Amino acid sequence: MSEKELKPCPFCGGEAEYKERGNEYSGITETSVMCKKCCTRQIHRWRHYKFRFDFVRKETIDTWNRRADNGK
Ligand SMILES: [Zn+2]
Repeated sequence: MSEKELKPCPFCGGEAEYKERGNEYSGITETSVMCKKCCTRQIHRWRHYKFRFDFVRKETIDTWNRRADNGK
């Protein structure tokens, strides 16, 4: 599985970090991107049974990267 690259934070240009956590029992997957510098956060919640991790990872990172592009 290839890791997609995160663009720098759209607000401060800081390094961004992708995180995900899922719970088989609650059926909720949460993915987020957080800027290590200014702590801007983008959080997504997904129904576990509908989405695979590789899909939600791509969606989350794509959304962050679009914000980064728009911020310029
Ligand atoms: Zn930032």
